[in-house]
Order: sequence, then structure tokens, then C-alpha cells
Amino acid sequence: MSAKLSLIGCGPGAADLLTIRASRRIGEADLVLFDRLVEPDVLELASPLAEKRYVGKGCGDGGRQQADINCILKEALRDGRHVVRLKSGDPMVFGRAAEEVAIAVELEAEIEIVPGVTAALAAAAENAITVTERMELQSFVVTTGKSADPNKDPDWSNLVKPGVCVAFYMSVAQAWRIQTALMAKGVPGHIATDWIENSGRPNARRVTSRLDRLALDARKQGVSNPAILFIRYPLSAAAGQLSAQQAEQA
Ligand code: SAH
Repeated sequence: MSAKLSLIGCGPGAADLLTIRASRRIGEADLVLFDRLVEPDVLELASPLAEKRYVGKGCGDGGRQQADINCILKEALRDGRHVVRLKSGDPMVFGRAAEEVAIAVELEAEIEIVPGVTAALAAAAENAITVTERMELQSFVVTTGKSADPNKDPDWSNLVKPGVCVAFYMSVAQAWRIQTALMAKGVPGHIATDWIENSGRPNARRVTSRLDRLALDARKQGVSNPAILFIRYPLSAAAGQLSAQQAEQA
């Protein structure tokens, strides 16, 4: 038997949001590696003969845990197994897929990547939030609250611009930093913000606020991970901002 790595996008949780290809591959695996964000009913698709291994990853020491996962993966591929690595959402969106693919390349294992519904789009669909809108939102951007270097935030104020909807992953702990960075660059405090917590699960919740109350409302409402933050800056909000400034100057 030849070694194979299948990186499978499992979507936001519910098994019926898996692709047909994803559910087939899960059924074919010898070893299934999964983490905290993968729901139990997805695991039920694996053969009773397959080994299922929890490989952790909550918040915090992601570096060490990723090293452990890499190690397990290497060992299994060396043994010629078919490893199915389950990833929440889509493997190519904040999924650390590059490291796991590099291991398979190094070991000359076959690689297959199966796309999944990424959390932002699952959350958007569930809550009827359009991420593009013909007259108001021309661009859709995904970013993260958490970068590899904790002292270097992504350049959020260059992303949140008139006509853009931005989805923030891993951003709950950074609400205050995001709010202040954007307001310092003149993004209007009244634009709407939405947290979507636990999208696709029975405990899904939407917390709507506005930019100038983002951190306060997140704290008051106890927003917690996993959650996506949407900041939509419609063109008309920017036009309104401009005419208010002009009226003030006149
Ligand atoms: N590859 C995943 C993202 C993994 S990073 C994807 O494409 O969706 C982990 C982050 O994804 C979390 O911090 C959160 O921002 C988001 N996330 C994952 N599952 C979620 C869910 N069910 N509801 C809301 N956000 C979720």
C-alpha cells in the first residue's frame, strides 16, 4: 500500500455540509487525524477499522501541537498508511496546510486536498449576510486577528475600506486592537459589525454591534471562540461620512 495524505475540508461542523468527495475519503482512511473544531458526526463516517486520533489544537500553544501533528503524520506516511487529516472549514484558509503538505512532499507520498466550506462563508449563509453587494460592497477579504508574530498585527486599516467586507478569523481576543486601529484611520464608528459564534452548530449565535462599541459589546455579550467577525463598510457609509465632514467644514 502506498502512502497518501488527504487534507479534508470539513466545513463548519455539520456533516451534511461535507462534500461527497470528503465523506468518501473519510470512509477510506486508515488513520484519521482530527482536532477540536471537527464535530463527532463527521468522525462517524470513518470505517470502524480506522484508527482515529485526536490531535488537539485549542488556543495557545499551537506551535508545539503542530510539531506533534507533523511528527505523527511523518510516522504514518513512512508506514505507507492513508492518512486523512480533517481540517475545519477549508484546509487552505488559516489551516496550516503548507507544513503538512511539505511533509508529504518530502516523503514522496501522494497528496490530495479536498476543499470545504470556510467558516466565514458558512456564517454568512447561515445569517443571510451578503459578503458582496452590487452597489455597496465590491470586495471580500479574509484576515486574521492573530498573526504569527504577536507584536505585528495585520494591517487591518488597509483592508477595511469603503466598498469592502472583511471577515476576521481568530479575532475575539483582538476586538479592542481592531476597533482602535480602524477608528484611528478614520473608519466611521457607526458601521455595523457582526460576530457569528459557533456557526453551523446548535449553539450558533449572532452578536450585532457597531465599530465604536465592538470590544465593549463582545465583552458584555461574552463572545467566545470559535467566532467570525464581519465588518462591512458600504460605499454609502463612506459617502455619508464625507458629506458630514463637508458640512462641518462649511
Ligand atoms: N480552516 C478554517 C479556519 C481555521 S482557523 C476555515 O476555513 O474555516 C480557526 C478560526 O476559524 C476560529 O478562530 C474562528 O475564527 C473560525 N471558525 C472555525 N469554525 C468556526 C465556526 N463554526 N463558527 C465561527 N467561526 C469559526
